[in-house]
Amino acid sequence: MKLKKHIEEAKKGKWALGQFNFSTLEQLKGIVKAAKDSEVSVILGTSRGESEFVGLKEAVALRDALRKDYPEIYLNLDHGRDLDWVEKAIEAGYDMVHFDGSDLPIEENIKKTKKVVKMAEGKALVEGEVGKVGGSSSVHKGAPEEQKDLTSVETLVKFISETAVDLCAFSIGNVHGVYTDMPELDFNRLTEMNKRLETGLVLHGGSGLKAEDVKRAIQEGVVKVNVNTELRKVWRDEVERALKSEPEEITPYKLFSNLSEVVRKKTEEKINIFYENNL
Ligand SMILES: [Zn+2]
Repeated sequence: MKLKKHIEEAKKGKWALGQFNFSTLEQLKGIVKAAKDSEVSVILGTSRGESEFVGLKEAVALRDALRKDYPEIYLNLDHGRDLDWVEKAIEAGYDMVHFDGSDLPIEENIKKTKKVVKMAEGKALVEGEVGKVGGSSSVHKGAPEEQKDLTSVETLVKFISETAVDLCAFSIGNVHGVYTDMPELDFNRLTEMNKRLETGLVLHGGSGLKAEDVKRAIQEGVVKVNVNTELRKVWRDEVERALKSEPEEITPYKLFSNLSEVVRKKTEEKINIFYENNL
């Protein structure tokens, strides 16, 4: 599978694929335009809520339509927690599914992740998760709650060898969302994980992190970085600006003519960090 090859190339070349989440057409078009302009492969993410809002089949159809113009786009189900929904995404034609069993006791996480790997065999790649990435994909004041469930290196090694996932998400203090006080990341833990593993690691909570921290994580084996909150924020700001500046306008394409452009710009900013060694 081509996506698997890209992940291996990323690991060798010390760059990372960006996963950019969407739930509207303007976001999707902005992300794909940025990828096309920079000539990089990107992963389009939809969380459970986003994939319900768009529709699993509809998300696949949109990917396919956009692939005719630019083939290097892949679709991932982000934080699938329910096996039925994960299976539906695989059957609909998603390229990758992230099974998040990080809330479960490790043995159960392993058992369920193995089921997903079997379900996805020959159809989709699988991302697992060990250790809890807290927070939520919004803009928050202050600092996140202290992250207690950081990934244990031993547990991660065991999880990956038993499940044979293609990628794995971890926690070194990274959180979803943007905080006015962003947490410090435990890089020693990441270095230790990377020494012990061949499998590529996924950094969740890419929004709000300093570019140097993201670059450092990529040097330490991260091959995919997920971004959602920062794209949501520019989307919202532009919606507000447009509504205020054109209070009488009711034609969506006139009102929101700049919406995909703000998303494109933010995505490009991230691409320049993640793919620095591949541009
Ligand atoms: Zn996440």
